[in-house]
Amino acid sequence: MKSQKIVILGGGTAGWMAANMMAKSWADKAIEITVVESSSIGTIGVGEGSTPQFKGFMDYLGISEAEWMPACNATYKNGIRFIGWSTKPGFSSYFHPFPAQPDDYSAPAFFHNSFVRRKAIDVEGHPDHFFLATHLADLNKSPIAAESFPFEINYGYHFDSALLGQLLARKAAEFNVKHIDATITDVRKHLDGDIAALITSDGTEIAGDIFIDCSGFKSLLLQHTLGVGFESFESNLFNDAAVVIPTKQLDTIRSETQSVARQFGWSWHIPLTNRIGNGYVYSQRYCNADQAETELRAALGLLDSDVEARHIKMKVGQVKAHWSKNCIAIGLSQGFIEPLEATALHIVQETVQSFIECYQDADFTDGNRDKHNRALSERYQAIRDYIVAHYRVNSRTDTNYWLDNANNNNLSRSLYQILQTWVSGNNLSDELVRQNVEQYYPSVSWHCLLAGYGIYPEQAQLKSGNALANQHSIEKVNDFIRRCGLNFKDHRMELESFVANVHK
Ligand SMILES: Cc1cc2nc3c(=O)[nH]c(=O)nc-3n(C[C@H](O)[C@H](O)[C@H](O)COP(=O)(O)OP(=O)(O)OC[C@H]3O[C@@H](n4cnc5c(N)ncnc54)[C@H](O)[C@@H]3O)c2cc1C
Repeated sequence: MKSQKIVILGGGTAGWMAANMMAKSWADKAIEITVVESSSIGTIGVGEGSTPQFKGFMDYLGISEAEWMPACNATYKNGIRFIGWSTKPGFSSYFHPFPAQPDDYSAPAFFHNSFVRRKAIDVEGHPDHFFLATHLADLNKSPIAAESFPFEINYGYHFDSALLGQLLARKAAEFNVKHIDATITDVRKHLDGDIAALITSDGTEIAGDIFIDCSGFKSLLLQHTLGVGFESFESNLFNDAAVVIPTKQLDTIRSETQSVARQFGWSWHIPLTNRIGNGYVYSQRYCNADQAETELRAALGLLDSDVEARHIKMKVGQVKAHWSKNCIAIGLSQGFIEPLEATALHIVQETVQSFIECYQDADFTDGNRDKHNRALSERYQAIRDYIVAHYRVNSRTDTNYWLDNANNNNLSRSLYQILQTWVSGNNLSDELVRQNVEQYYPSVSWHCLLAGYGIYPEQAQLKSGNALANQHSIEKVNDFIRRCGLNFKDHRMELESFVANVHK
């Protein structure tokens, strides 16, 4: 291959993740990578919860938890607790756990019970009884098992996004990534429409062969310069703004994200070692920024506090092509599906990985561009459907926001069939396999969501079941999970051991 210049516009989390992954993957190739960012524009400054995928990212770069977690005030995440999304008795909250190997023992009981309960048989159908991650989060434990407990446990993280950006910038420099602090005010194109160079505010040209657009919601290169269209998800995801207010960390550091339903949306509560990140994601169609800020302040006990709130606008949807001409969009510039399941950085990682594979497999040409675009578009749609389901099956009646969400029939055919399968008592795992969407959200996640909202026949209709229906002893499952849980430390103690080890 001839030598190539890759120019990444944007030094937010997406830009630095892309720079590191490409630099590491192509360390032995004649590829020069430059990140251009504008310190006067800055980054979005949110995005502080991850999925388990993020561990793979850090492992790939060879960055240990002992190095990066203390540097980013990071904590562990066993999953997400959803509070107040359902009004069904007994289902006021549920936990969406990250998977763990011991679930192989307990998950079949949950699948069985949730299936039987949909047939109006009175068995335990709440997901919180069946998963190790749920138990660890309940007890504020870390997901790091003792040496004597040799089972794979998946977990995610919470971190300070600004500190993560700084750490990734330092790592990128070690991989010989170049860095330019400049504001791009213009773009020069070749006659065939490809991007030739970025032009800075002082007229300097930054030329390249491939341009990675990590410029955030404004999507300066892909959407603005190349005119690629945007498919909005506003007809089934109403939220388009957020207000963010930090609070002090408590003595107990939770090992979960909390997602609390509010009048016009929901709020996240993300524990870091030094603070809790809180944000209210809401729909401007139903409430204004002042109302949202007041509701969040009231919930946090900060009505009289002068702690500053930060307001953010969100553009929810995806671009019509993630790779066009010689430009690939990564991060907020390619789309965003609101932060409910903290999937954005996961998609960044998948996009970079897909680009690396597609580009390399086609001998560093755009031969696999359509493949990349198809894969990303399908991923966005599948993740959107899982998020939309959270709103569609809510049973709140306190505001028009929730009523309109529950009555919203702008559903994809895939989601419609998934919901139909559940309410008609058929096998949901089979349906997910039939649709080939299990790769995006596994069957356990769909079961936890629908069972967690209590989408079952009403309590009064339930009948007692026979021995076959009651084949799983809930006491045995609980005892198994409790004893597994003995192999994990308190979350705060686990995090403090990083600091203790550094000072040894
Ligand atoms: C409310 C909210 C909550 C979120 N929560 C989560 C979460 O919990 N988990 C998760 O995974 N994701 C979350 N996200 C998404 C996450 O924040 C982003 O995916 C992530 O931060 C990556 O952003 P980015 O790098 O694409 O954009 P940005 O952070 O906006 O970075 C854009 C970069 O482009 C540069 N730039 C822009 N214009 C120019 C120019 N003209 N010249 C030079 N440089 C320029 C900027 O300086 C900056 O460096 C959330 C998003 C929102 C809005």
